[in-house]
Amino acid sequence: MRAGFPDFRLGAVLATSFTGTLSERHGDAVERIPTPHRLVDWLAVYGLAVDSCTTAQLELARELRESIHAAATAAALQDTLPASAVHVINDRSAQGRATAILTPEGKRRWQLGPASRVEDALSVIAADAISIIAGERDGKLALCASPTCQAAFFDTSRSRTRKWCDMNTCGNRQKKARFHANRRKNPGSAD
Ligand SMILES: [Zn+2]
Repeated sequence: MRAGFPDFRLGAVLATSFTGTLSERHGDAVERIPTPHRLVDWLAVYGLAVDSCTTAQLELARELRESIHAAATAAALQDTLPASAVHVINDRSAQGRATAILTPEGKRRWQLGPASRVEDALSVIAADAISIIAGERDGKLALCASPTCQAAFFDTSRSRTRKWCDMNTCGNRQKKARFHANRRKNPGSAD
């Protein structure tokens, strides 16, 4: 972590963790990749280490992020996918060179193109988003129940009843709010 920058919220699903680099979209939005360097840091956490990142490449990344957010939100609501978002996702998917590598330990690793460009990493994220939005993976797109968040997340719980994008932040805040509301209703009670 670099001092002075907001922490990353790390989820298990690449594409929706990427959209989570802008959080609280309906409240006081927090930009978690405010500089090209922070995008480099974020990509490294997800096994997509790149050599460098320019401001223009950060813009490509943010455009992809907002397009995934828009398309995933529409998919969660079973609306028509916005054409402009689909275009950007497909463009980023096509612009990168990345290869899936099977390690001797039986894990998948991404090998970016020879220059390890940001575009290569973005193509992996775009492909991940496509697999989720296309319904190819076991899970369901849903929107976070926090009114200031409403982030699209991928619910892989068995019952498909997850309510929050992240238990530690949105889920916890909601629980605390409920706790305080109960305390106001029943002063003196512990819960
Ligand atoms: Zn949330």
